[in-house]
Amino acid sequence: MPVNLAILGSTGSIGTQSLDVISRYPDRFRISVLTAGDNVDLLAEQALRFNPDSVVIGNKKHYQDLKKKLNGTGIKVSSGEDAIEQVAAESPADMVLIAIVGYSGLRPTIAAIRSGKKIALANKETLVVGGALIRNILKGSENRLIPVDSEHSAIFQCLAGEKSLSVEKITLTASGGPFLNIPVEMLREATPEDALRHPNWSMGDKITIDSATMMNKGLEVIEARWLFNLEPEQIKVIIHPQSIIHSFVHFTDGSVKAQLGIPDMRIPILYALSYPERFRSDLPRLDLSKYPSFTFNEPDNDKFRSLALAYKALDRGGNLPCILNAANEVAVSAFLSEKIGFMQIPDVVEYTMEKDHFIADPGLEDLEFSDMQSRVTSGEYINKHVKEK
Ligand code: NDP
Repeated sequence: MPVNLAILGSTGSIGTQSLDVISRYPDRFRISVLTAGDNVDLLAEQALRFNPDSVVIGNKKHYQDLKKKLNGTGIKVSSGEDAIEQVAAESPADMVLIAIVGYSGLRPTIAAIRSGKKIALANKETLVVGGALIRNILKGSENRLIPVDSEHSAIFQCLAGEKSLSVEKITLTASGGPFLNIPVEMLREATPEDALRHPNWSMGDKITIDSATMMNKGLEVIEARWLFNLEPEQIKVIIHPQSIIHSFVHFTDGSVKAQLGIPDMRIPILYALSYPERFRSDLPRLDLSKYPSFTFNEPDNDKFRSLALAYKALDRGGNLPCILNAANEVAVSAFLSEKIGFMQIPDVVEYTMEKDHFIADPGLEDLEFSDMQSRVTSGEYINKHVKEK
């Protein structure tokens, strides 16, 4: 029987790559749900090709347009963020791939977990914001959550067959992004176009900017804490500009395992969707002779302050990672619309982390409030410090 899949965020970078993977295995997968935020044209095109039971467009203003485009197909059309949460819970999917970007992934992920489905999780912000809550909901069935992020997929694969007590620490690799070798003084002038030019990976805008500031690695450190139940001091980061080694696990006997592959997200996506099997694929292969050297360096925390801010949020815990995430989303969006400069992104995050109210043990409603409050605080800071043109 094919696996029934719901893909939330099907029009994005992860979503489209997932559909590319799925289209290679028509006997193994069936699409039951597709959702998007705004891109009604691509969502309709995907629906006509994959014939799901239902589609949801997040932005309600596109509902009529989508309905018209899918008229006569029998595909159920709905709209709004509540409808995304509803399909995550109520669709007959066996597995839900969470490929929505940002905080908006949190509620649908919780709804899908509560309804007993397997989750392939690409959206890292969900675990950053609500990691403790999600581990609590999953209690006893943590194996239903399969990481898609390449570093976490690497750790997950290295841990197969191992006991958690045998893990001493993990090391997440980071490419260093487009500004790895650019002096810090020049970064003040960096434009969105410069920051969107990632050397190794082709991804959505938000994660690409996060890679340039290294907030992406900070979010991944927090994601790893909750996925693998590790203490902050057990999670290290190393710069590996070739992006071939996707991460390492260090064991208590001194052994180290690593997972390698070319930088192509379709490989970890396929792993998550086919887990615990491995499907044969015709995806491009790693040719080691093309990589005569692998290099490793410590991250520069003075230049990339976002990573240190993420460790700070993780150490203190509570709602601080939620505050960090919301402020970062607002700051990245302000940078993309050229309201602030590149080096102001961590300023916005730091200010909001210091200013907003700390809650030690937040429930879902506290997180919703913290997210909203931090967006207001960071927006106010941005309005006061708008870049001079
Ligand atoms: P994209 O921006 O390319 O795609 C985001 C998807 O989410 C789109 O389908 C978008 O719809 C939808 N969306 C955006 N906002 C909302 C909303 N408010 N409600 C409902 N749907 C929404 O992002 P990526 O694919 O790059 O990343 C997705 C997630 O995966 C992120 O959390 C990222 O950190 C993570 N990730 C991504 C990797 C990559 O290689 N891209 C690698 C590892 C992790 P629309 O197109 O209509 O706007």
